[in-house]
Amino acid sequence: MNLISGFPFWPQRNGLVESYPALQASTTCDVVVLGAGITGALVAWQLAQAGVDVMVLDKRDVATGSTAASTCLLQYEVDTPLHRLVKLVGEDHAVRAYRACHNALGQIKKMDHRLGGRHGFRQIKSLQGASRTSDIPALQRELKLRRLHGFDVDWCTRSQLARSSTLPYSAALLTHDAAQIDAHRFTHSLLRAATASGSRVYDRTRVSHRTATRRGITLHTDRGAKIRARHLVVATGYETAPYLADPFLKLVVTFALVTEPVPAFFGWPGDRLIWETARPYVYLRQTDDGRAIIGGYDESTCDPSRRDHLLASKTSLLARRFRQLLPKIPCEVAYSWGATFAETPDGLPYIGSHPRVPHTYFALGYGGNGITFSVIAAEIIRDLICEGNSREAELFRFERKSIR
Ligand SMILES: Cc1cc2nc3c(=O)[nH]c(=O)nc-3n(C[C@H](O)[C@H](O)[C@H](O)COP(=O)(O)OP(=O)(O)OC[C@H]3O[C@@H](n4cnc5c(N)ncnc54)[C@H](O)[C@@H]3O)c2cc1C
Repeated sequence: MNLISGFPFWPQRNGLVESYPALQASTTCDVVVLGAGITGALVAWQLAQAGVDVMVLDKRDVATGSTAASTCLLQYEVDTPLHRLVKLVGEDHAVRAYRACHNALGQIKKMDHRLGGRHGFRQIKSLQGASRTSDIPALQRELKLRRLHGFDVDWCTRSQLARSSTLPYSAALLTHDAAQIDAHRFTHSLLRAATASGSRVYDRTRVSHRTATRRGITLHTDRGAKIRARHLVVATGYETAPYLADPFLKLVVTFALVTEPVPAFFGWPGDRLIWETARPYVYLRQTDDGRAIIGGYDESTCDPSRRDHLLASKTSLLARRFRQLLPKIPCEVAYSWGATFAETPDGLPYIGSHPRVPHTYFALGYGGNGITFSVIAAEIIRDLICEGNSREAELFRFERKSIR
């Protein structure tokens, strides 16, 4: 599948950080991780730390799938607000899922530090604006419920917002725990660290098919090499069709633009992440080289040619919205892109094994919080492979009731 239209910012800025060879000869390993985006890199890193013999394969260059297109806001709020998720999966399940995402933010911070920083990681606050006055009651319910469960959130009134920004929202929910990163660079660092611990990484190597045996799995590549492994981890992002007949996901396309560096962030409330209650919503963040990013305006299509066609008009719409929200900041478009994206019925990812797919674990971080989900997936899969169980696995399993 063609995943991206236009030119995402991060790979342009970072260039070719690291290159890997293609796999030419047949081999064996304990675990094959299929996909070298942020998810595959996190899984490989976790397994390598645990002493597992890991091999990572990607049909593209490393980190050039959806990870290259990500806008990389790190939030513990999933696309489904807590008060709605409670109705779908029950209070205990919903709160545990939110806590797992919250915990993932802390894990990313530690990993960033351990891998030397330099991934544009920054802890910041996030502000969700009420797009319409009628959205306020639901946002207040969300505030109350999150506070009840110990999340650090506050309320901003229209006049407080007006004093600190040009944002026109009628109120906003302020979340104290959020962050941002450059996932493209972070993926490269994770893979470098995994290879330093003995993992093997091959890119430009497409797995064409697989066969399961009683003791494991054999993967066949487009160059005729065979890899025998005890386990396969599918971290192929939105390209899961060959591995999963019924992935319960909806593909959409989404858009983003990055401005030229701006003189100052006049009217922006500090360095906060900004998003809103409208659906489809727009969201904004700053970069560590003084640019602004705005993304959103999703469309329900998975057709790459439609995405190519929409790119110019969606870029104009995003630029117009930026000027409405932040009229004192020049919005000169430097890069813009569209990319395929996936949503699930409850906003939670799919992680773990599937009853009909032997010797295989899935790490499918679908939804607006894909990166936080990838962190959770990597820990769960490490625990399932190394210890045979994981406390969090039941939260994100394929068989959960909310997706039936
Ligand atoms: C525009 C956009 C903005 C986003 N913004 C955010 C955000 O702000 N915050 C957030 O948390 N998330 C965000 N996301 C989601 C997040 O970017 C994704 O969840 C994440 O990048 C997915 O990473 P991945 O490694 O699972 O997939 P990918 O990066 O796509 O990696 C999968 C890899 O698998 C490889 N592959 C597939 N099939 C095969 C095969 N048969 N053989 C070998 N290799 C194969 C592909 O080549 C690819 O490199 C955004 C996504 C998009 C598109």
